[in-house]
Amino acid sequence: MRQPSAGNKARNGLAKKQRVFLFNDEKGVSKVAKTWPEIRELLGGKGAGLFDMTRAGLPVPPGFTISTEVCNEFVKAGNKIPRPAWDQVLAAMKVVEKQTGKKFGGGVKGVRPLLVSVRSGARESMPGMMETVLNVGLNDQTVEEMIAVTGNARFAWDSYRRLLMMFGSTVLGIPDEKFDEPMERMKHERGYKLDTDLTVEDLKELVAIFKQVIKDETGREFPQDVYEQLKECAMAVFRSATGHKARTYAKQMGWKSTLPTAVNVVTMIFGNMGDDSATGVAFTRDPSTGEKKMLGEYLVNAQGEDVVAGIRTPKPIEEMAKEMPKTYKEFVRICNLLEKHYKDMQDVEFTIEQGKLYMLQTRNGKRTAKAAIKIAVDMAKEKLITKEEAVRRVKPADVDFLLHPQFDEQAVKDAKHDGRLLATGVNASPGAASGMLAFDADLAERWGNEGKAVILIRPETKPDDVHGMVAAKGILTARGGATSHAAVVARQFGIPAVCGADALQINLSERTVTSNGHVLREGDWVSIDGGKGEAYVGQLPMVHPSFEEQTDLVTLLKWADEISAKNTRKAEDGKPRRGLQVWANADYPKDAQRARDYGAKGIGLCRTEHMFFEAERLPIVQRMILADNNEARQRALDELLPFQRSDFAGLFRAMTGLPVIIRLIDPPLHEFLPSQEELIREVTRYETKRHYEALGEEEYADYQNKLALLNAVNAMHEQNPMMGLRGIRLGIMIPGLIAMQVRAIFEAACDVKKEGYEPMPEVMIPLTGHVNELKRVQPELEKVAKAVMEEKGVKVKYKFGTMIEIPRAALTADEIATMAEFFSFGTNDLTQMTYGYSRDDAERSFLLKYVEEGILPDNPFQTLDRDGVGQLIKMAVQKGRATRPTLEVGICGEHGGDPRSVAFCYEAGLNYVSCSPFRVPIARLAAAHAALGIATK
Ligand code: PEP
Ligand code: MG
Repeated sequence: MRQPSAGNKARNGLAKKQRVFLFNDEKGVSKVAKTWPEIRELLGGKGAGLFDMTRAGLPVPPGFTISTEVCNEFVKAGNKIPRPAWDQVLAAMKVVEKQTGKKFGGGVKGVRPLLVSVRSGARESMPGMMETVLNVGLNDQTVEEMIAVTGNARFAWDSYRRLLMMFGSTVLGIPDEKFDEPMERMKHERGYKLDTDLTVEDLKELVAIFKQVIKDETGREFPQDVYEQLKECAMAVFRSATGHKARTYAKQMGWKSTLPTAVNVVTMIFGNMGDDSATGVAFTRDPSTGEKKMLGEYLVNAQGEDVVAGIRTPKPIEEMAKEMPKTYKEFVRICNLLEKHYKDMQDVEFTIEQGKLYMLQTRNGKRTAKAAIKIAVDMAKEKLITKEEAVRRVKPADVDFLLHPQFDEQAVKDAKHDGRLLATGVNASPGAASGMLAFDADLAERWGNEGKAVILIRPETKPDDVHGMVAAKGILTARGGATSHAAVVARQFGIPAVCGADALQINLSERTVTSNGHVLREGDWVSIDGGKGEAYVGQLPMVHPSFEEQTDLVTLLKWADEISAKNTRKAEDGKPRRGLQVWANADYPKDAQRARDYGAKGIGLCRTEHMFFEAERLPIVQRMILADNNEARQRALDELLPFQRSDFAGLFRAMTGLPVIIRLIDPPLHEFLPSQEELIREVTRYETKRHYEALGEEEYADYQNKLALLNAVNAMHEQNPMMGLRGIRLGIMIPGLIAMQVRAIFEAACDVKKEGYEPMPEVMIPLTGHVNELKRVQPELEKVAKAVMEEKGVKVKYKFGTMIEIPRAALTADEIATMAEFFSFGTNDLTQMTYGYSRDDAERSFLLKYVEEGILPDNPFQTLDRDGVGQLIKMAVQKGRATRPTLEVGICGEHGGDPRSVAFCYEAGLNYVSCSPFRVPIARLAAAHAALGIATK
């Protein structure tokens, strides 16, 4: 037999269990939920937010949350709200009536009717779920009472017709059109444009029509009983939690089941109840500059939607200080409180109802990159957050954005003012660019190669256009969004792009574009801002943001460096290692100086061959290459030496006290000669001419020279030069060349040391594949170094090391480290050789498709491939350090400036990453983030 007493007990327990929580019921909530996740679980996201704001002492409109548990009970009970829970709702309504001094359902003379909103809110927000019903509590009687107390018939009737619409569609499931159609018809018939043109009489008529719609569609009258309205709304919210949309969403998110929702019942607040009422929005700090100055707008005697409808112009928030001084003071106090509570800049919505201020919403405000940095730094200085938290909050992309060239703000304003805005579209790839319009990819490529600034304009782009896209400064399309081909390619290559600017009428046969009253032809200048999605006629002036002037960024990165310097990590070899340093790739003293100014702690790569291309030097280099005997070659090398020496001296001066890695010549020599095709064309031209007439003296000399060059190029021709005679192989075949470079390095080092600088040269041998290559080359070079120091009577600290760019070098790193004192991972080549891709060919043909279609997660030349290339790096670090524990290890491929790759380098135990000077600030932040364990996306 059943134990009746036990059943009763359980039932009593159930009856007593708290399911409804007033926003100010801190005690009740704390009995059931202690931690923030538990509170969110119980009250849902929105309910938890309202509870938290109330707890923080903010004036939130009174209300309560029906917990998510009731949702579960509702489903279990076959879509019924259990009696004990509903009793608690009724009790909570009584408290809210007391808190507000208003009466739900009205009917008490001199007391205002209470209206509420009913809102859903699960633990996680679920788009597509039932959202909100406003103005619950209005009926034929309370609408009149509202008019009596507010004196605003229009507002009362408008609120009533909104309730009918929302209740009808969200609660009763009547299609929106059933309400929209009669309203649109009425507006059309009466010649109105805006909803706000509707008069009181019109609105009354609409209320009657909407009631009839409800009756026709459901066979029932709209409930005049306000508690029935409330219950129906709550039930609709609960039903929606397991409805079709919620199930689909849960499935999409990969959740096991749908989430139960809470129901929030919130007192309606009206900002249109007289001149002591208002509504507004504000940011607690300026979201575009980050300045600690509130930025907002408000409207007296208005509803939020008046602002949206644009029928009245809001006033700046400062005016509130004069107009409503007491309330303004209170508002400022609350904003400060909010910042203290959330420790971040807030974006708030507020309403003042007859002098009483209510906060309707607060959330962390969206902000520009500049503001993000300023706010983080200021808040740390104000001791609101720690320096570490400030560093955490700023994203590497914010730093990136700040250092990109941008259009001058005033020039943009002027252009807009003068009607020079050509079109707006999707902000597909950030950055500013100006250039001449090219209507096809071939022309863009040609002009690009001629050194012209080009903006490629197309209706949309296709894979065949990539050659022109990469040659362009910017891309502008009329069709396609953020995931269109143009957008994806542009982002891949860091080219600014505006896509889907559909106002552009592009006529490809006439090669014109028409938009916003402008007709532009091929070759006309335009400027695009890919971060904003705007295109302008003409060339807007650009500003290169100066790093030093960005004092907040400088401060933030100083803190980032402190974090990296303090940090100790356990590296791959199990040993503790200091945080990651950031060095830079720089070939010239001015780049090195910039790198140093940007905070680089060394030069990780100086590509010496770049200097060979300069006009004065190229002929000497070519002579050196073409020399058919040792003396002639040595003469050319002797001529090159002073150039190299002065290049290196400049670098050492700029980087005094810091290491400078100088790489010996790397590329195949044919790169210093004209192209084979060009030479064949020239020689053929001379030979054809010669067939008919004699060549002049100069012509003949040039012909002979071209012929010699062609023979040399033919002799040097390689099937695959990237895997041919280059790097250390070249050093072995032409030993005098690298010996000259090492001599130049040490002569320069000794000279600048005599001047009082502290040079720290590190000689890097490229493309080693076998330790024997180093064994052959390195001792000879060290001899040169020592000889120079002896000649000069000066000693400098130096190192000899190698690049790890070939998989075999990584695999045999233990052997390589017997010779090399440092490793630098050349991940451009290492990626090419690990994947077996030739980068240029891959990016031009299949790589993009691979990324687009998810065959590869990323372009491996931009973001380091952890699983493949990364494995080789980790292995090489471990093996290298096993042989030589003091081995210095870094990376100098382009990945050194990519935040995700920086995070990998940190994990792999590298000492530094080296990247382009412009990316040094980003890498410094990324290195600190790695030290803080923040996953970089
Ligand atoms: C590399 O291969 O990563 C590298 C830095 O060398 P380069 O790009 O000059 O071949
Ligand atoms: Mg390389």
